[in-house]
Amino acid sequence: MAEIEAVRAAAYRVPTDRPEGDGTFAWDATVLVTAEVDAGGPTGIGWTYAPAAAASFITETLADVVTGADVMDVPAVWTAMVRQVRNAGRPGIAGYAISAVDVALWDLKARLLETPLVRLFGAARAEVPVYGSGGFTTYDDDTTRAQLRHWAHEQGIPRVKIKIGESRGTAAERDLHRVALAREVIGGDAELYVDANGAYTAKQAVRLARRMEEHDVRWFEEPVSSDDLAGLRLVREHAAADVAAGEYGCDLTYFARMCQAGAVDCLQADATRCGGYTGWLAAATVAAAYHLDVSAHCAPNLHLPAAAAAPNLRHVEWFHDHVRIEAGLFEGAADPTGGTARPSTDGPGHGMTLKTTADSHRVA
Ligand SMILES: [Mg+2]
Repeated sequence: MAEIEAVRAAAYRVPTDRPEGDGTFAWDATVLVTAEVDAGGPTGIGWTYAPAAAASFITETLADVVTGADVMDVPAVWTAMVRQVRNAGRPGIAGYAISAVDVALWDLKARLLETPLVRLFGAARAEVPVYGSGGFTTYDDDTTRAQLRHWAHEQGIPRVKIKIGESRGTAAERDLHRVALAREVIGGDAELYVDANGAYTAKQAVRLARRMEEHDVRWFEEPVSSDDLAGLRLVREHAAADVAAGEYGCDLTYFARMCQAGAVDCLQADATRCGGYTGWLAAATVAAAYHLDVSAHCAPNLHLPAAAAAPNLRHVEWFHDHVRIEAGLFEGAADPTGGTARPSTDGPGHGMTLKTTADSHRVA
């Protein structure tokens, strides 16, 4: 028995290094919400990328059922949290808050057992493939070139993704220009991915997929809204590129419906949204039941221990915005040079600890 003595939450707002945008959204800052849990000495930490309200949700709604529970029995604590948010609604803030706490629980359990978290899960592989992700629609060509060159040629990451679908799919010629630019910069060997964030209509996406074939685009993420399972399936059936979606999923029913609809070639899941490591590993198993790979969405360093434990992992998204934040706010960020990253095996837990300097970004 290792009784959880305290639960804390905080929010940190980090401005982007330049304006960022995709097909359907734009932002100039990102908020990271942390959850910390204490038991028997050590502290575990988890986080999500969410409105600062997720921090007060953790302390006001989740802390009651987490405090006093046994951190060795994470499934019991996880189930208590899910039951606690029935009336608040699981998707969105509640689901993101549960995710941050679940990650903190696993980190704390591993710290109490003095073992790396990847050992506690059990590894399917020693290192995980990553892909460079950014290429925002708000970038000019020089900025896009520099970012892609950094991943493909300086860091040697053989997979990169850019955003397309600019202005809700109304700037398709610029999208195609940027796809051609990306292929020119990375050369013929690296894999080229695109993410439309749901900006196109289904038939528009099919037409664009065909025009992107000359640039060997392998991955077409959210060509249409991830809620449009029939649209995703239509694109999947008519495009050479793999269709991917799932980043907004908060529970297993969401992932099972997406897989059952034949909507994706690779399921995406985000541990900071879908119930932490507990939810993410379960989502990976749902994908496996449909003979699909799983790809980890965003929060790159957080995903590494779970990603290494999933037999059907395809890759982890090395998302520019979160790479900056995690390296800036935490000790222990991984190095993706060569196109793979390793979960920490040097010490206990997931290996990430908050820097004291993070306080300068604190907003809640
Ligand atoms: Mg995406």
